[in-house]
Amino acid sequence: MKAMRVLVGAVLLVRSVCAQGTLPTNSNARPFHVVDYDLSIDLPETGKTIAGNALLTMQRLGSGDTLRLDLLDLTVSRVLLDGKEVRFVRDSTSLRIGVAGARDRFTVAVRYAGAVTDGLIIGTDSAGRWIAFGDNWPNRARRWIPSIDHPSDKATVSWTVKAPSDRRVIANGSLVEETPLPSPRDPDGSAGRPVSWTVTRWRESRPIAAYLMVIAAAPLVRFELGTTACKVAEFPGCVPQQLYVAPEQRHMAPGEFARAGDIVEYFGRLVGPFPYEKLSHLQSSTRFGGMENASAIFYDDKMFRRKGADAGLIAHETAHQWFGDAVTEREWGHLWLSEGFATYYSALYLGHAFGDSALVGHLRRDREGLVKSANVASRPVIDSLQTDLMALLNDNSYQKGGWVLHMLRQEVGDSAFFGGIRDYWAAHKHATALSDDVRAAVEKRAGRDLRWFFDQWLRRPGVAELTTSWRYDAAKHELHVVVEQGSRFAPYRLKVPVAITDAAGSTRTQVLQVGAQLRSELVIPMRTAPSAMVVDPGVTVLGTFTAK
Ligand SMILES: [Zn+2]
Repeated sequence: MKAMRVLVGAVLLVRSVCAQGTLPTNSNARPFHVVDYDLSIDLPETGKTIAGNALLTMQRLGSGDTLRLDLLDLTVSRVLLDGKEVRFVRDSTSLRIGVAGARDRFTVAVRYAGAVTDGLIIGTDSAGRWIAFGDNWPNRARRWIPSIDHPSDKATVSWTVKAPSDRRVIANGSLVEETPLPSPRDPDGSAGRPVSWTVTRWRESRPIAAYLMVIAAAPLVRFELGTTACKVAEFPGCVPQQLYVAPEQRHMAPGEFARAGDIVEYFGRLVGPFPYEKLSHLQSSTRFGGMENASAIFYDDKMFRRKGADAGLIAHETAHQWFGDAVTEREWGHLWLSEGFATYYSALYLGHAFGDSALVGHLRRDREGLVKSANVASRPVIDSLQTDLMALLNDNSYQKGGWVLHMLRQEVGDSAFFGGIRDYWAAHKHATALSDDVRAAVEKRAGRDLRWFFDQWLRRPGVAELTTSWRYDAAKHELHVVVEQGSRFAPYRLKVPVAITDAAGSTRTQVLQVGAQLRSELVIPMRTAPSAMVVDPGVTVLGTFTAK
């Protein structure tokens, strides 16, 4: 997702709500896995009270007599195990169901109801109309869906939503049916104008994490964005895309979403086939600038009303369909696998669409922030000790994660980098991954060990701090370049490009192999003394540069 800079205040405001008592369960110790969610939700005409029926298909992974599902706030009235009513225990954060004697694969059906306070955000739009949008990241699915609410547990999902017919219901996957119910009879008109209801069903046939399972129910207007990526779609045919906006925003469509087809085509060719049935873009009430719900991206309503979405945001959320959605970080501490990848690949798209200077400008701006960041100086990118999940939405996960990919590309070259990431993606799509899976895939393509690279950039804090000096030895025709590393962080092993201009005014770029030591001296044969030297002219090293 993208917590827009202007929205940082809003994100901080809600942090305490998310953090209270809802830390993820230990994924390794979990004895059960949800294979499929079949979710039926009855939405109200007014107010926030929903009625739900969740049919979960479960797989047993280990021994255990009690299935624990995450569920807050709502009241459970009945639980069925393989169709038979069973006892359950409810507390403030979970629903525990006795499953002793159940087979390796079984179903549980949970009937529940209540006023929803989070996860499904129910409110009114600026015209006073009732609207609802799912907004689950990181662990708020449990506020309205009985679930194993952790990114390590991915499942397919079906939605059956009953709502007043003047609302359009959009969800993950493909549309299965949209059926108006028979109008209620009101022969003498005493009940006023009767509300007509529609049942809408969607089906996501690829497994996704609970934080990506959403519905939207709002009076949205639909625009077709066309079909693209015909040769790079996982499903037969091409990738259809749609834009849904509030009726008053009709004039904004399609705006920058005219690029949506090009963006999906670009990532499809660069990474792998688009992994879902369709891709919708919705004006919504997400608390984030954008939220990458699988096949149904939600964008912030206020931003939409002000200026629509920009190409960078659309590319970021679209890149998440591959990174984060199809391949999901198995542990929250590896969030850069989602946000760092979306940051770098969206920057790559900007380079593709607007020229290399757009990519370089992006990297330069991000670096300016990173080298000054107290967070980057004090915590590693893979931050397994952070228990406040909202606090992981920081410059380590996003900008430094993106920069690590950029440097990995410089380290191994384009072929091994893009090939390695394609291999990583193909090996883990519709499943989960950890940072070592990226390392293994790129190592295989590069044909060498890269543990040192991942360790120095992901597992310890900091950036490189380089002081460079040079002298020319006229007798030996040698240029001596000295690179000293600051002592604030342990020294880095680096490739440092330098652009050297000779007396005649011609410039060549030489890549210096700097060792993980405080002082490196490198010798470059040169016929005449150089007139100038520029360190890192192409913006490929995450660090600061001082000339001595
Ligand atoms: Zn993101």
